[in-house]
Amino acid sequence: MRSFAACLTLITMVSAASLAQAQQPAAPAAPAALSQKQMMMVERLQANALQSRLGLDVLESLTTEIGPRLAGSPDEARARDWAMAKLKALGFENVRIEPFTIPYWHRLVENAAITSPAPQKLYVTALGGSGPTPVGGLEAQVIGFPDVASLRAAPEAVVKGKIVFINERTVRTQDGSGYGVGVVKRAQCQSVAQSKGAAACVIRSVGTDSHRFPHAGGSARSRDGANLANAAVSAPDADQIARLLARGPVRLRLEIGVETKENAPSGNVIAEIRGATRPDEVVVIGGHLDSWDLGTGALDDGAGVAIATAAAKLIKDLPMRPARTLRIVLWGSEETGLHGGRAYAAQHKPEAAKHIVAAESDFGAGRVWRLETDFGPMAAPYALALHQALAPLAINPGPMQSGGGPDVGPLKELGIPVVELSQDGTDYFDYHHTPDDTFDKIDPAALAQNIAAFATFAYLAADSDWDFRAGR
Ligand SMILES: [Zn+2]
Repeated sequence: MRSFAACLTLITMVSAASLAQAQQPAAPAAPAALSQKQMMMVERLQANALQSRLGLDVLESLTTEIGPRLAGSPDEARARDWAMAKLKALGFENVRIEPFTIPYWHRLVENAAITSPAPQKLYVTALGGSGPTPVGGLEAQVIGFPDVASLRAAPEAVVKGKIVFINERTVRTQDGSGYGVGVVKRAQCQSVAQSKGAAACVIRSVGTDSHRFPHAGGSARSRDGANLANAAVSAPDADQIARLLARGPVRLRLEIGVETKENAPSGNVIAEIRGATRPDEVVVIGGHLDSWDLGTGALDDGAGVAIATAAAKLIKDLPMRPARTLRIVLWGSEETGLHGGRAYAAQHKPEAAKHIVAAESDFGAGRVWRLETDFGPMAAPYALALHQALAPLAINPGPMQSGGGPDVGPLKELGIPVVELSQDGTDYFDYHHTPDDTFDKIDPAALAQNIAAFATFAYLAADSDWDFRAGR
């Protein structure tokens, strides 16, 4: 970390150049400079964040004492109880659960094997929303496709009765864009294959690793009613199937058993630092509390829970309360369909105009490398001020457009400004939704940098009168 003041001139130039490149409407000429008090508080927050163990301790506690916490399960309920106790113990106010219900899906049995021509067990996991196979499994010939588009284009006659296998690779990227492409097959194989009379769907895991861990994922229940058996195999297993298919016909056996339930309990856990002078104005930061069930959800999204909680606690420990209310939201049931994000937006829609800005951390625990903002065109000076404040953490100015993180998507749809502190996701999809998403994968220094970044953003948004909607 360099001295904060020494950075300012250079940062202003860099930020201004970057903002100009973003081709947004012209901002007011004078950038909003940080006041002496803001600079002091930011410097203090960043120093404290980089020295504190609180985020790491929160994450260790969640992943150890609760472990996997599938949406709608008794484990997710234990996680809500854990969060209530933790947030109260840290001294936050208005700690509460906002409950909702979801369609529940849970794996019971998942087995797969190549039966011919070279028999071997495969490492497979059922994807969320998968239907069951007949008890004891099904066996069928495999038909391979490079992607969903080619499955869509295939005649029904060649697909009918076969196990569809999609072997599309996920490209490793810093910003996660490779996942955006790769995930299409996970979302669509089931319904497209079912419409052509396929026996089942097996995809190459949406991941960038070369280990024999399959990657889970998907919805609780398919929105279009598809219920075909739908599973992902590990990358080396996908390679093996592909090499055999290049030689001739291949047969697989697949057995999947699932349990489903309507109206399973879930909920968002909320805590606050009430604002000193404008308590009805709310700044939201958070992560999602649920995880897939194969690992302990350290990266996805225990890290987000820890980052938001620890950042808010650092702000709480300042001598003065911020002017606005800072609200931590730990969303439930993100993984199976953004249920918590939607429930929060529906419940708080009447107060949407009083939501100043929102941000979620849900991309692991890699270092934050840039700030994306989705503000009104006249709010550019506030983006510039945030860039200045974040520069000592080696965070670059990013584009003036942002999704803000999955669970704040529904808030963005209500017109609430969002930001995203973009994390380095180069390795994220090596572990994402696998049994390997565990606490040991966390880099404590990178986690602390994330907390410093969130504390900086949240403090400046909460202890100011900045209007991020300006010019809309
Ligand atoms: Zn997540």
